[in-house]
Amino acid sequence: MRLFVFKLGVLLLLVAAFTLGLIPAQERQPAATVIVNAQVSDGSDGPLKKVTVRIAGDRVTKIGVFKPVKGEQVVDGQGLVLAPGFIDIHNHSAEGLDKDPLAETQISQGITTVILGPDGFSPWPMGAWMNTRRKESAALNVATLFGHSTVRSQVMGSDFRREATAEEIQKMAALAEDAMNEGALGVSTGLEYEVASYSSTAEVVAVAEVAAKHGGFYETHVRDEGNKSFSALEEEIAIGQRVHLPIEHSHIKLQTVAVWGKAPEYINVIEAARKRGLDFLADCYPYDAWNASIKMLVPDKQYTNPQSVEKALTDTGGPDTVAITEFAPHPEYAGHNIAELANARKISPTEMFIQIIREGDAANSTASIIAKSMMERDFQAFYQQPWVMVASDGGIGAQHPRGAGTFPRVLGVYVREKHWITLPEAIHKMTGLPAQRLGWKERGTLHEGAFADLVLFNPDTVIDHATYAKPFEFSSGIEKVFVNGTLVWDDGKATGAKPGRVLLSEAAMKGDDPKLKSAPGGTSQ
Ligand SMILES: [Zn+2]
Repeated sequence: MRLFVFKLGVLLLLVAAFTLGLIPAQERQPAATVIVNAQVSDGSDGPLKKVTVRIAGDRVTKIGVFKPVKGEQVVDGQGLVLAPGFIDIHNHSAEGLDKDPLAETQISQGITTVILGPDGFSPWPMGAWMNTRRKESAALNVATLFGHSTVRSQVMGSDFRREATAEEIQKMAALAEDAMNEGALGVSTGLEYEVASYSSTAEVVAVAEVAAKHGGFYETHVRDEGNKSFSALEEEIAIGQRVHLPIEHSHIKLQTVAVWGKAPEYINVIEAARKRGLDFLADCYPYDAWNASIKMLVPDKQYTNPQSVEKALTDTGGPDTVAITEFAPHPEYAGHNIAELANARKISPTEMFIQIIREGDAANSTASIIAKSMMERDFQAFYQQPWVMVASDGGIGAQHPRGAGTFPRVLGVYVREKHWITLPEAIHKMTGLPAQRLGWKERGTLHEGAFADLVLFNPDTVIDHATYAKPFEFSSGIEKVFVNGTLVWDDGKATGAKPGRVLLSEAAMKGDDPKLKSAPGGTSQ
């Protein structure tokens, strides 16, 4: 009896403390949040509907016509659009998250989940990286692919400038098996980049087969996005057909003069493959310039051969279309194009290019450049395909405006100003379509029971502000962002909350490894 009285006393004290506000708000059981008056997208490309949405805990618990009850927090969405949080299927934030777990350049765009490990390069070893990410949570959810170049480097070390032997391919497949068991969503390749450019199609097929066996998909930066775009596309389609796995074609583009304007033909090849049953999706970032190492301009890798360099500069649209963004030996080159730098030194653009290569090699450094990637009518044609989604190819710290501006730019420029696609179509390309590629049913679409990853934005004002000169500027018009039911972005700033989780493939969650299942924050879809 005395114990009961004591317990009752403690309870009454707690109630009093709670009522008087003595217990900090974040330690209270969070009240449900109800968002009223917003135009709501369910992540499909269907029309928006004016319905009320309730969030409790980490889930959406009710959608429909109802009134908030007393004690619930009410958010007025008048004039705003409520959509599932944006899923960025091609994001380079793996390293940035260590220093910047709030990921403000990402959540300020409405991104709630990033898929890391693109272009053939992933964190490694994967299980250790995931454990770190679980311990040091971020504002948004993370998941990763395993990188083909990453496993290739593990097996071949510095001796990678050749085709792999059968034994080496077997070792790569074994590492791929480990990565898939540890929760990778599939494999990424970067066949245009140095390490993977020496791999045979058979090698890529071998690692893709491992991903397929575990229900994963194949994300690829194809072998060529310039003059040999069409043969690179044929290789990709052949891999998909041979391995029978879903494809995610990274940052679809036609980036040299020889293929500019050929989007209709490129689309026809893809449509034909889709008709034959290939599950082919692609993503596209909304900028007409790309950003990478200066060496990427020269496909035959003859970086100091004047003929090769001159052809490379012509193919890309001329030396005035190639601007240096970063060069450690000469930081003053940044912001200038090759034609300007050559003029100032009274040498030819080709000589200037070779000089930059030599200065870089001597300092063990490579210049980063931005070069014209595409004609607007090509990238309009791509965005208008129902199988093309929006992804940034950016991430925390990206020296390209796509890193901070991609999603608001599509909504502001390509929906509102240019009318290339409708608002529901754009939202679908940022939510339901990537979720379809990932095989996720509880994120990317808005329904009762789904995870409460949500973005509330103003369709009349949403716009990017990041530029090539100032790539980290936040966008405006993204009003509120929720991750797993917790507000992470509110009225132009991060709240400081870090409710993000490490997301695994379904296969990994169904596996027998108890470590994975009980991992804190680890969750399947
Ligand atoms: Zn890429």
